[in-house]
Amino acid sequence: MKITNWFNTSETDVDEQHYASPKNEEEIVEIIRNIENYPSPIIPLGYKHSPVPYFEQKTGTFVSMLNFKKMEISIDDNTATFGAGVYFIDASEFLFQHNKQFFIHYEIGTATIGSIACCHMKDSSYNNNPYYHGGMFSKYCVKIKFINESGNIEIWTKDENTENFDYLTSSHGLFGIIIEATFMIEDLTLCHVTHHITSWGGLKDYTKSKYCEPFFYYGLPFRDTVLLEFRKKIPVSLSSTIRRSRFYKLRNRLWKRTLPLFSFYIQTFSPLPKKANYWIVDSVCSVAYKLMACLFKDLYCYPHDQVIFYPEKGSLWAGKYIFNYSCVSKDKFPEFLDSVLKFQKDYYNKTSERIDLNQVGYYIKQDRPTETSFLSYSKHSDQISIDLIDTTKDKEKILKMYEKILENIKKNEFSAHVLFNQTWGSEKVHLYGSYDIERFKVMRKKLDPSNRFYTQYFKKLLNDY
Ligand SMILES: Cc1cc2nc3c(=O)[nH]c(=O)nc-3n(C[C@H](O)[C@H](O)[C@H](O)COP(=O)(O)OP(=O)(O)OC[C@H]3O[C@@H](n4cnc5c(N)ncnc54)[C@H](O)[C@@H]3O)c2cc1C
Repeated sequence: MKITNWFNTSETDVDEQHYASPKNEEEIVEIIRNIENYPSPIIPLGYKHSPVPYFEQKTGTFVSMLNFKKMEISIDDNTATFGAGVYFIDASEFLFQHNKQFFIHYEIGTATIGSIACCHMKDSSYNNNPYYHGGMFSKYCVKIKFINESGNIEIWTKDENTENFDYLTSSHGLFGIIIEATFMIEDLTLCHVTHHITSWGGLKDYTKSKYCEPFFYYGLPFRDTVLLEFRKKIPVSLSSTIRRSRFYKLRNRLWKRTLPLFSFYIQTFSPLPKKANYWIVDSVCSVAYKLMACLFKDLYCYPHDQVIFYPEKGSLWAGKYIFNYSCVSKDKFPEFLDSVLKFQKDYYNKTSERIDLNQVGYYIKQDRPTETSFLSYSKHSDQISIDLIDTTKDKEKILKMYEKILENIKKNEFSAHVLFNQTWGSEKVHLYGSYDIERFKVMRKKLDPSNRFYTQYFKKLLNDY
C-alpha cells in the first residue's frame, strides 16, 4: 500500500503487516515491544496533513492513531481531554456544546489532537486574549498520556514534570506515541473580525507602529496589494445584541477553496502563456481582496466558526495548494519581508518560476514569560510569518523554489524559524532560529535510547548522523 499526504509531496510504500491501526492501548504496547514483527522506527500517523516528508522511510512501522476518539470535559478545573485521533474540528464543536472553547483556534479542523499536542502549529493571535497566545497550541496542554520506547504507559503533567513536559510538547512523535492530551479551556466568547486593505509598504509601517495589533495578512508578491484581517474576542453576553454573520463562511470558502481552485484551473487549463495566467490570477485575487475589505467589516462569529474541515486529499473539487512557512521576530519583519519579496522577483526573472497564488502571514504573540518550551518559535518575541502558497501541478519546481528561499533566508541571517512539520526543505537547510536543538537532541537520546521512534526525516532535520 501507499501512504501519501494531502499535497502528494510525500509518499511511501508500506507492506500491510507494517501498517497498524490499533484500537486500544494494549495493541500499541504490543507493537512497541515486539521489535521483530514491528521494525523500527515506529512512526505515529495523524491525518497525514503535514507538508514535510516525515513518514518517508524505507523500513519501519506506521501506526495510525485515528481510532482514539475519547472526548471528556472537566468543568471544575476548566480542562478537556481528547484522544489522539480526535480532529480539532470535533474537539472545538464538543467544547462549543458545553459553552467552552480552546484558547487558540486553528483554521485547520483536521489536525489531530496527537499531532497538536506535540508539533509546531501556527495561527494569528487574537488582539485581546487574556492570556498570551503563543504559536504552539501545546502551550495550553497540561497533561499527556503516552507510551514510551519500552512500551510503558506514562502520564506526565505540566505541574509535576515541568521541564520534561516542555520537551514532550515539542517532540513531534520522537518520544513516544501520544494516546490522549488534556488542554486548558475557557468560557465561550464571540469573535469580532474586520478587514483592511493596504500595500506592502503599509504593512511594514504598521508593524513598526506602536499601535500594531496581531493580524493575519494575504498579499500578492507581484502586486502592491495586501489584505489585513484582525480578530478580537467579545464577551458572549453581548450575543443577544449582535447578529452572527454568515459572511464568515464566505470568507472561509474564498480562502480555502474558490481562489486556490480558480488559480489551479487557470494554471492547468488556460491556453494563454504563463505570464498572462499569473496576471489573471493576480487581478482576480486583487479584486477579491478589495471586495473582502468592503464586505467583511465588523463580522461577528464564534471562534470555532473559522475552523475548516479539509478533505483527506486536496483535489480538483476540494481545492489544493501547498505552502512553505518561515517567521521572524516582529522587529526584523520589515527587512525580512523586503528580502523575501526581492528574492521572489529575482527568481522569477531568472527562472520564470514563482508562486502562483499568494503570500500570507500570521502575527503570533510571544509565549507567556514563564514558558520554556525548547522548540517554541515565539519564546523570545512576537513573530510574523511568511507563507508562500502555490496551486500548481508542477510541484517539483515549486518545492525547489521553497528550498532556495530557505537557503537565502539562512544566508541573510535573519534568525528565522521554520516549523518542523510544515516547512518544506527544513531537513536540508537546518534553519533553527532560537530553537535549543542541542538540548533537544540530548533529551531525545535520553528518552529514546534505542531509537525506536527516530526516523530518517528527523535524523536529517537534527543533523544527527
Ligand atoms: C490545507 C492545509 C492547511 C493547513 N493550515 C494550517 C494552519 O493554518 N496552521 C497550522 O498550524 N497547520 C496547518 N496545516 C498543517 C497541519 O495542520 C499540521 O502539519 C498538523 O500537524 C497536521 O496534523 P495531522 O493530524 O495530519 O498530523 P500528521 O501530519 O499526521 O503528523 C504530524 C507529526 O505528528 C506526529 N504525530 C501524529 N500523531 C501523533 C501521536 N498520537 N503521538 C505522537 N506523535 C504523533 C507524526 O509522527 C508527525 O511527526 C495545514 C495543512 C493543510 C493540508
